[in-house]
Amino acid sequence: MGKNKNDRTSEEFRTVETMVRLYCRHKEGNENLCPSCRALLEYAHRRLAHCPFGQAKPSCRLCPVHCYRPDMQARIRTVMRYAGPRMLWHHPLVALRHLWRELHSRPSGRAGNS
Ligand SMILES: [Zn+2]
Repeated sequence: MGKNKNDRTSEEFRTVETMVRLYCRHKEGNENLCPSCRALLEYAHRRLAHCPFGQAKPSCRLCPVHCYRPDMQARIRTVMRYAGPRMLWHHPLVALRHLWRELHSRPSGRAGNS
């Protein structure tokens, strides 16, 4: 795959998708993505597609623009809290890449660590 401008966005989306699927399967015990997780995923996809940061966007967790609707934000947080640590086990490469990107895209305006 080349350097099409959606590389970062589609990769971010794949990460989100992996997390939502992991959450739905392991936490909710669904064989296939349930309708509510599918809706969450579709919502996330739409947000990513319209992200004003495009290529330069940090991963969504660090994104300064909290573009999710509050209810969707609460749901994606729940998914990430559950799936985040488990990603290291089930999808170590995806998780590490995501972590790496967060480390390297951390906004450096503030002194000291939070
Ligand atoms: Zn589900």
